[in-house]
Amino acid sequence: MVARNKVQFQKGLSEADFEERYGTEEKCRAVIFRSRWPDGFECPVCGGRTHSEVKTRGLFQCSACRRQTSLTAGTIFASTHVPLQLWFRAMYHLTQSKQGISSIELGRRLGVKQTTAWKIKHKLKQVMMERDATKQLSGRVELDDAYVGGERSGGKRGRGAPGKTPFVAAVETTPEGKPVRLKLRRVASFCSHSISMFAKRSLDPTCDVVSDGLACFGAVTSAGCAHQVLKTGSGAAAARTPAFKWVNTALGNIKAAITGTYRAIHEKHVPRYLAEFEYRFNRRYDLAAMIPRLTWAALRTTPMPYRFLKLPDVYA
Ligand SMILES: [Zn+2]
Repeated sequence: MVARNKVQFQKGLSEADFEERYGTEEKCRAVIFRSRWPDGFECPVCGGRTHSEVKTRGLFQCSACRRQTSLTAGTIFASTHVPLQLWFRAMYHLTQSKQGISSIELGRRLGVKQTTAWKIKHKLKQVMMERDATKQLSGRVELDDAYVGGERSGGKRGRGAPGKTPFVAAVETTPEGKPVRLKLRRVASFCSHSISMFAKRSLDPTCDVVSDGLACFGAVTSAGCAHQVLKTGSGAAAARTPAFKWVNTALGNIKAAITGTYRAIHEKHVPRYLAEFEYRFNRRYDLAAMIPRLTWAALRTTPMPYRFLKLPDVYA
């Protein structure tokens, strides 16, 4: 019997609790106001703190410079003509389900077109990606290679197989091997150059990296990390090696989610999907807090039209 796991049996945010907190446009506006201006209104033009409200238009007018500002101006929430309630519902589905949600399903749940759901979802994923982009792992790190859209065992390793997007999975663990944080990064290929770039951006130089000896992983030493090779064999034998327990568990969950939820992911979108898994995994002990935290990050992420969404600089 599998031991009961703190994460799996966590309650998360029930639909009733969600309704209580975010169930009306007014509640969502109040949440956004507090998250955007925790110390009270601040004029984005002159920094003035006193304001009046133009209730009929939902605008705030600065008493000093008279400029009118909407609650969501200059944030990702401003760009669609979708009510805030639907943005919060999208955040609910994106953060509270372990598997993620397809844009078709999200569109159905929100009552919007699939294309609208897709844009909302990818903007939120972008927020997740930018939020964690520059954070580095430290301590003991399990490193493994994987592909979106393919099986590792039996397939070609190293230079990659056609139609598959290679990525690196790194799990920071405690010295006893308990998982702490996850990092998933698309790489151009499994070569020393790509791994060196990945390590310099994503790993603190004090990391003790454990890998199964794929030649390119030795390149983590170029970022100052220590590297230990544990030969595991391949396939099922590798999955049973205790040193790689968590990286294998994480990869298993990602593959299950991708095959269960999405039929295919275009290569250019892969980093955003990986970022979504990474974001959820790294905040798994407090599911209910994920919505306010994502709201906070969303209000501080530079908005851009969907077609201009791009990868943060730290991505290869
Ligand atoms: Zn002002």
